[in-house]
Amino acid sequence: MDNCIFCKIINKELPSTVYYEDDRVIAIKDINPAAPVHVLIIPKEHIANVKEINESNAQILIDIHKAANKVAQELGISEKGYRIITNCGEAAGQTVFHLHYHLLGGVDMGPKIL
Ligand code: C5P
Repeated sequence: MDNCIFCKIINKELPSTVYYEDDRVIAIKDINPAAPVHVLIIPKEHIANVKEINESNAQILIDIHKAANKVAQELGISEKGYRIITNCGEAAGQTVFHLHYHLLGGVDMGPKIL
């Protein structure tokens, strides 16, 4: 989608640090990390947020979780534990309107990190 920063990252029009990529998802380092490990798991299909998940595209949630678990394992945060969250809508803190899950870890987290 035009003017979507994550579509541009997916299309390699903007740089990013890529931890994982396949034909459906990409996992990149967050440029403004909120934890020692802060990765964004992003579907390649432009979906604005979880409100747009339906019967026909819900498989992507499995793909995202599988990618998140793989990256967590590779970055060494799997055993200690990690958090996966997504913000849906401006009031929830969503700033980029292309679905993404934050994978956070590498620190003992209280109930609030984002
Ligand atoms: O949930 P929210 O929409 O606020 O998350 C957007 C995230 O995308 C932020 O954590 C921000 O640091 C990250 N970001 C990024 N690279 C960009 C633009 C935003 O990692 N070029």
